[in-house]
Amino acid sequence: MPSYLFQFEELAAFTHHVAPDTLFAFDLDGTLAPIVIDYGEAKVAKSVRSVLQRLMGLAKVAIITGRSRQDAIGILGFQPHLVIGNHGAEWPGRSSERRWELVQLCLKWRDRLHTALFYEPGIEIEFKGESLSLHYRKCEDPQRALVMINTAIDDLEPPPRTIGGKYVVNVVPAEAFGKGEALAAAMEELGCSRAIYFGDDETDEEVFRLARSDVFGVHVGKNDHSAATYYLNQQSEILGLLNSMVGILEAHCESESQCCDG
Ligand SMILES: [Mg+2]
Repeated sequence: MPSYLFQFEELAAFTHHVAPDTLFAFDLDGTLAPIVIDYGEAKVAKSVRSVLQRLMGLAKVAIITGRSRQDAIGILGFQPHLVIGNHGAEWPGRSSERRWELVQLCLKWRDRLHTALFYEPGIEIEFKGESLSLHYRKCEDPQRALVMINTAIDDLEPPPRTIGGKYVVNVVPAEAFGKGEALAAAMEELGCSRAIYFGDDETDEEVFRLARSDVFGVHVGKNDHSAATYYLNQQSEILGLLNSMVGILEAHCESESQCCDG
């Protein structure tokens, strides 16, 4: 069961992990951006954006989101060192390696789901390339909508991996990279010997379940079933934590008098 981060011993352990060679990795929705009814309206607060940009001058910053990369970069309003989209499956600068067979499969699934869910008002099918998201937040009877969605997904061939979320079901090809694999690969790519990962959703549990001693997991929101070691009460607490991380890193810089970006 995760313990609340803003306590003496927990903060001491956390501070120990905050170093120039730490990868600071974040989910986007519900973590850096508050959850909104219309998923197209998500925004990162200016204050959060500016402290993230300061953080980028001191250490490596990555975003691992269920959204497409392009969508995520638009919401962030700046480009961190690494933005990985589609729950870990979509990487930058590898367009030649883009998993077109996965994109094709998702297109086929999208058409099938459109047909199957045509008479269910309120369900939105979002095609993101290497994955699909079925949103049902706007449905009059969300429970019924979820049953309909799961029934439609059961008919898909080949069977996809599904990841639940807050009023969303994500449909991912079975062979695609998940967030856990993506975080490990990101640490390697960016040359980081440890990571702190912040997330709020079921997809983020793949990272928390890695249970690596060099990965420090923080769940945004209290959830006794999370595999994360620590949690924050609410999304708004992320700003204070970001500010403290920047403060700790600046102190590192001063003590070593070899600051990265000055
Ligand atoms: Mg999230």
